[in-house]
Amino acid sequence: MNEIYERVAADLDEFAGLPDDQLVHEVRNRGLCGWLSTSGEYPEWTGEFRADRELAARVCADCPVQRECLEWDFRARGHEPAGVWGPLPEDARREVFECWEERRDGGTGSGERP
Ligand code: SF4
Repeated sequence: MNEIYERVAADLDEFAGLPDDQLVHEVRNRGLCGWLSTSGEYPEWTGEFRADRELAARVCADCPVQRECLEWDFRARGHEPAGVWGPLPEDARREVFECWEERRDGGTGSGERP
């Protein structure tokens, strides 16, 4: 496994014991993308369009809850990325998720998902 991916996954260990509702609260209240919207809704970045990814990369780069967002994405979506949650491109997200899953349940697939 790539050492950088391992390090990103290890950096999420501190959230392992954080309940889902607290994690979601942090991301929803402090995530920069939530502050961009005046409608009260999160932007729907599907990731299908290059412009979505480029805009997300710029916003996510300065977001104070990047790691929390990635943790939430992994818990909620598992192997299935959806949209532009978390600041990683899809291939890097897949690699980091494999490392994260291995750290959480030893790769047995028994990790709980919300
Ligand atoms: S990392 Fe990006 S997608 Fe996640 S909360 Fe922050 S701005 Fe939103």
